[in-house]
Amino acid sequence: MARSVENNLYYRLGIDKPERAQRTVLETENGRVWIYSDLSTMAKSLAQKLCALGVTQGDRISVQVDKSAEALALYLACLRIGAVYHPLNTAYSLAEMRYFLDNAEPRLLVCSPAQEERLTHVARHCGVELVLTLDSAGAGTLMQDLLDQQTCDPVPVFTSTSAALLYSSGTTGRPKGIVLTHENLASNAEVLVDLWGFSANDVLLHSLPIYHVHGLFVACHCALLSGASMLWNAGFEAQKVLAQLGRSSVMMGVPTYYSRLLSLPEFDSGSCKSMRLFISGSAPLLSSTFAEFEQRTGHRILERYGMTETGMSTSNPLNGERRAGTVGFPLPGVEVRVEDDQGAILPAEEVGNLLVKGPNVFKEYWGMPEKTAADFTEDGFFKTGDLATIDAEGYVAIVGRSKDLIITGGLNVYPKEIEIVIDRCDGVLESAVIGLSDDDFGERVVAVIVPDGTKHEADLEQCVRRELQESLAGFKRPKDYIFIDSLPRNAMGKVQKALLRERFAD
Ligand code: AMP
Repeated sequence: MARSVENNLYYRLGIDKPERAQRTVLETENGRVWIYSDLSTMAKSLAQKLCALGVTQGDRISVQVDKSAEALALYLACLRIGAVYHPLNTAYSLAEMRYFLDNAEPRLLVCSPAQEERLTHVARHCGVELVLTLDSAGAGTLMQDLLDQQTCDPVPVFTSTSAALLYSSGTTGRPKGIVLTHENLASNAEVLVDLWGFSANDVLLHSLPIYHVHGLFVACHCALLSGASMLWNAGFEAQKVLAQLGRSSVMMGVPTYYSRLLSLPEFDSGSCKSMRLFISGSAPLLSSTFAEFEQRTGHRILERYGMTETGMSTSNPLNGERRAGTVGFPLPGVEVRVEDDQGAILPAEEVGNLLVKGPNVFKEYWGMPEKTAADFTEDGFFKTGDLATIDAEGYVAIVGRSKDLIITGGLNVYPKEIEIVIDRCDGVLESAVIGLSDDDFGERVVAVIVPDGTKHEADLEQCVRRELQESLAGFKRPKDYIFIDSLPRNAMGKVQKALLRERFAD
């Protein structure tokens, strides 16, 4: 297919459509309202500034800044001029930043003013000449001398032109750069808007970070593409969100957001009167959270599944049964299958490796052609590294990451299966089952449990043991039980099992 402006994600999102110009696109926490024409003007001005700095198509722009409307405009500006947007978690250390800058070789780094001095030093070391700043209030050197006259039109691109570079969270090994194209992002957004019934009347409660797929692509693209508006929070605060629910129609969040809302006694169906949809993803939603949420509010949370490499791949239905513990069906245009380690497709209900194929699947790992080739099958399916089942009705359930699979005495143990049993015991808040090295078994199964404080640990261990004995084969039952106050999670709510394995290795 030829290069065209219509392939450019910026164009496909419809930001500049005249009929939306006066509509609200987002409202920040300090009450500032941005209409679509404000966002479009800012994106154009920034695009022009980037061009004036010599940024050209294919150049990477690395961005480590706090969430702001201006940061969103910067992302859109990059799309507009065909630069590759490279967002970075604000929690990254200098050493991590050095790795990313070395690897991505950006033309420009945008960072917060507080980090400017230290990061300029790192950037120079990595050969990055340009460093500009942007703070959470939208001020900084990036915003200086912006021109009002905007002559920089969206550039024509191929569908396969790179739009964004995001690094895998890297819980094991060095993070890999994942290259997503204009088509990957646009096709996924178009499918989701349709599937989840987004319209210009929606108000999306947006409390997610915008350095990750969930907050930047899934949430912003759905809102922008449908001409909807967003309540734009710097982060998630349960009390604030509770107050905003009455002005919202859709919320997207990680499971922790939902359990935090449930911890507020005043949160009930009355708080959700204007809401039509709650969407959860990025980490497994506990069935108990799903059930309690429904009981308290009457809403069944819609759980979906995706990853940086694929955007969204499956979703529970908008209309139809949303099933707890599952991530629903493949999205239209997306194929999924479950295979064994030899590549044979498994029958319904059997646990195996989940593979995904579709226009949502990324182009390549940045600078890693062998790794890219190794992660795709000959017929073009991407090996997600997740373990899953597909039931007879087609519902997909994620069982865990394949690297979290425990092999004990030569037998496969899927942590999720054990966690489900532990979590239903009275007195358990949540749990994580891990494999620790064992001279005899190779790995032994260990349960890390967070009690809810209603039982003594010794009693709780007895109850859990009894429940597991009744439910699971002996080889699956944990050899050790560890009680801790909370599970380590990353910013997207994922339990960091690698950290637990490290911590309890001895
Ligand atoms: P990331 O690339 O950071 O978005 O992480 C993607 C990973 O998060 C997936 O490969 C899954 O392991 C996990 N994940 C995302 N959504 C879900 C979900 N709804 N249930 C279980 N795991 C999920």
